[in-house]
Amino acid sequence: MFEKWIDQNRDDIIAKTQGVLRIDSVGAESTAPDQPFGPGCAEALDYALQLGQELGFAVKNVDGYAGHIEWGDGDDYIAVLGHLDVVPVGTGWTYPPFGAEIHDGKIYARGAIDDKGPTMAALFAMKAIQASGVQLSKKVRLIMGLDEESNWRCMDRYFEKEPFPIGGFTPDADFPLIYAEKGIYCFNLTKPRHNIETASVVVRELSGGNRVNMVPDSCRIVLTATGDAEAVASQLRHTAEQEGVKCQVDVNGSEITLIVEGISVHSMAPQHGINAIVQAGKLLKVLDTADQAIWAFLSEVDTDGERIGVKMTCHATGPLTSNLGLASVDEETITFTFNLRFPVDKTEDDLIALIKQKTGPIGFDVTDPGIANMKPHYVPLDSEIVQTLLKVYEEETGEKLAPLTTGGGTYARAIPNAVAFGAQFPGQPDVAHQKDEFWEVEHLLKCTKIFAKAIYELAK
Ligand SMILES: [Zn+2]
Repeated sequence: MFEKWIDQNRDDIIAKTQGVLRIDSVGAESTAPDQPFGPGCAEALDYALQLGQELGFAVKNVDGYAGHIEWGDGDDYIAVLGHLDVVPVGTGWTYPPFGAEIHDGKIYARGAIDDKGPTMAALFAMKAIQASGVQLSKKVRLIMGLDEESNWRCMDRYFEKEPFPIGGFTPDADFPLIYAEKGIYCFNLTKPRHNIETASVVVRELSGGNRVNMVPDSCRIVLTATGDAEAVASQLRHTAEQEGVKCQVDVNGSEITLIVEGISVHSMAPQHGINAIVQAGKLLKVLDTADQAIWAFLSEVDTDGERIGVKMTCHATGPLTSNLGLASVDEETITFTFNLRFPVDKTEDDLIALIKQKTGPIGFDVTDPGIANMKPHYVPLDSEIVQTLLKVYEEETGEKLAPLTTGGGTYARAIPNAVAFGAQFPGQPDVAHQKDEFWEVEHLLKCTKIFAKAIYELAK
């Protein structure tokens, strides 16, 4: 029904998509009026809104934070939620990251798949429906945010000013669709330190990790020894060998500096990394220190949450994962910061109670590190939106695939009754946020057809 228009206009779809990809819309902080995320993001939004207008739709810019392109009448609307901001390009690109050059059928650009390409596919999908002459019973809005890659302030501002849709999808993850996303909860375990000089070795400072959502790959510790520092150093080296801990030990008078190495991965699958802070605990616990029980605890911290009392699983999203992402110890206080990805049937309060119960007896307090948490997001499998989109995907591709869940967060969380739907096809390399990000030209066109059918089915 919509394929003909898309095939006839393929050159224009490709060219207009290249146009928005040529705008450097790396998110920035700006105080300029109407450009809260910098001139690049503002230009990308202007480009999309102007294109929407040229295609015959109503458009709106919401304070430079976000905007929409709208078609149809009535109060209720179906939303497609995309974003036009991109992450920094990094280094090592084969083709210019804002060139949108096509090589071997692939458009190379930052934002090609995440998420400017899919957002353009949704826009041309709306146009294909309109051009076919069919009538819809609900309005359709393509909402475009400019702060997805940072703090989602675009969506906060947008929905302060605009009503929520009755449902929708975001083309910012994987096909066939993602219907359940774990909650994300960050907390500190803190403990004051007392009488640290009473043992023969004193942990003066410990610091590990850069970001709470990454498994830390480095932890640095400074110790002092009242006795033979060289003997302490060789005890550390010996333990490291026994425990398989990669580290470097340096002695300078009575001071010992220890750098422990780990392997960093994203905290949504921390079991695939090696936590440098936990590795450090394995070394410290063998020394004669005042906080020996804490280092023993640290050495046992796991990625399924058992040691902190929150090992659990659920039917939809599977097991909770736990990442001890940051550690900071000085002579007064110990602070360990965790990032939990928890099942859809639990709340933060459930977790806090369990953590307190398990870590309170060791002397820890649970405190708030001031990092934004996220509630779990879950749309039932038998809901109309999930069933409709799965059916559309199957009809358009001939592939019947099981829907997905994730420990990460997609843009679908920003609105109720929404799922992530595309735009990455199964089996494709994950090039989002990587050098040489690309999207197959044929996938752009295929996606436009899938989205046209999906929007039509949801809004007809
Ligand atoms: Zn994205």
